[in-house]
Amino acid sequence: MPDRELEGQVALVTGGSRGIGAAVCAELGRAGAEVVVNYTADAEAAEGVRAEVGERAHSVKGDVSTSDGAAGLVEHVESQIGPIAILVNNAGITRDNLIMKLAEEDWRDVIDTNLGGAFFMCRAVARPMLKRRAGAIVNMSSVVGVHGNAGQTNYAASKAGLIGLTKSLAKELGGRGIRVNAIAPGYISTALTDALPEAARAAILAQTPLGRLGATDDVARAVRFLVSDQAAFVTGHVLAVDGGLGV
Ligand code: NDP
Repeated sequence: MPDRELEGQVALVTGGSRGIGAAVCAELGRAGAEVVVNYTADAEAAEGVRAEVGERAHSVKGDVSTSDGAAGLVEHVESQIGPIAILVNNAGITRDNLIMKLAEEDWRDVIDTNLGGAFFMCRAVARPMLKRRAGAIVNMSSVVGVHGNAGQTNYAASKAGLIGLTKSLAKELGGRGIRVNAIAPGYISTALTDALPEAARAAILAQTPLGRLGATDDVARAVRFLVSDQAAFVTGHVLAVDGGLGV
């Protein structure tokens, strides 16, 4: 990978305040991008990531699960920071339960944040990116969106939905030079997966040919590739970063 190949480009990472999003912010910062670390709740964590990425990074609060929140975030970045060249729709939540116990609120929260958030953000950046005839979008799906997982119907539906969104948008925007891809991480060691019971963790490892949980940097490097010119002819693709779990 060339050094600082994203120099001069603004990269907005939703849910950048910890876990995979924080690693993506750091990696895109190393590639030279002017990184915007988005978050909703934890300003201190977001500020910590911003400081680590460097002086030219920013942290901006904004709830992507609402149309107004996403539109406001895009408007703020475009007017105060610069034209968004790269959008990484990483913000995501889980509210796991078996279907008979799954509350309507937990269904809606997960769909609204994981799928709605990406939709609202893509809709908000589409106009400025179309005008500039350039842009790269990466949506954070999941191995669970491809294969399903008991106890995660809401999460799996949201992540499968992201794959349809990605492929459709790639077709819609490709003619104007905008690429849209997705990443389907396997189990990555973050706060989201640290809560897994030991038996579940062992079962996952047993099915992972590479025999380890992923690191956040594994995903961040894949994002860097997809948003760079190294992937100039790649769009509508779902890149598994899962140690072979999905094979
Ligand atoms: P974390 O829970 O560690 O981080 C989630 C991030 O999303 C936080 O920065 C959080 O910030 C932010 N966030 C949550 N809701 C919103 C919202 N409405 N608007 C803006 N930001 C929001 O998750 P991970 O790092 O583990 O996961 C990141 C992504 O990768 C998610 O989409 C997840 O589904 C996906 N993924 C993760 C896997 C894993 O094994 N960890 C595997 C496959 C996919 P704040 O708390 O401040 O709101």
